[in-house]
Amino acid sequence: MTRSAVVTGGGTGIGRAVAAALAADGLDVVITGRREKVLAEAAADLGPRVRPVVFDVTDPGRIEAALAELPETVDVLVNNAGGNTDTGRPAPSGLAGVREAWLANLETNLVSAVLVTTALEPRLARDGRVISMGSIAGGRGGGSYGAAKAGMRVWNAELAVRLGERGITANVIAPGLIEDTEFFGDQLTDERRAMLVGQTATKRAGTPADVAALAAFLASPGAGHITGQVLHLNGGAYIGA
Ligand code: NDP
Repeated sequence: MTRSAVVTGGGTGIGRAVAAALAADGLDVVITGRREKVLAEAAADLGPRVRPVVFDVTDPGRIEAALAELPETVDVLVNNAGGNTDTGRPAPSGLAGVREAWLANLETNLVSAVLVTTALEPRLARDGRVISMGSIAGGRGGGSYGAAKAGMRVWNAELAVRLGERGITANVIAPGLIEDTEFFGDQLTDERRAMLVGQTATKRAGTPADVAALAAFLASPGAGHITGQVLHLNGGAYIGA
């Protein structure tokens, strides 16, 4: 039987590459996001195995409403939707502003994954997979965005224990700098890029395809005994050599 995947944030960047890799491996893939046009174009490009479903991963009501359009059985769930909500925004003023800024990143990057996974948990197939997108920022500074990605590690560990008896694995991929996505917008200056690339051993930025290759492996039967882990994909940044 054909396996089914749901990739949140699958219309652009890393999620789109993951969706392409899973479809190439023969899975039927639902890609999700807020922008209908972006999703429709991505699905058309990625071929007949890929289908778009529009919903905001921070909105419980919209997630519940979308369930009717999502597969009855989910073999692979990729919690990829996210991004740094602080990027490009003016500094918040006062405690209320700080609170709002922190909640935005926690909701977009952590609570979103918890909500989508909770909604789909009853549908996860035996020997299924949950893969969540963390970040190098979850281990190295990163303010509210980093805190959200760091929180994913603890949540994922609990999830892995809970799902383990069903043969389901749960892992976090923590990428370093990945180019050719919408993540940075126009915020990645040449200086910052050079600094981030300079921290790697490979002396290059990562690509969505780098992340997709790891996600496809984690989704494969051969990865069934890897669970509760954070897999770092950052070109050897911070290995201390
Ligand atoms: P993109 O901005 O290209 O992808 C993010 C995707 O998430 C978009 O397709 C967006 O679609 C979707 N998304 C964001 N917020 C929501 C929301 N509230 N509801 C539904 N969908 C949402 O960037 P990347 O591909 O780079 O990012 C993918 C993941 O990888 C993110 O979790 C990011 O934090 C992480 N990451 C990225 C790194 C990088 O260097 N690029 C490094 C480390 C981690 P839409 O706007 O249409 O909703």
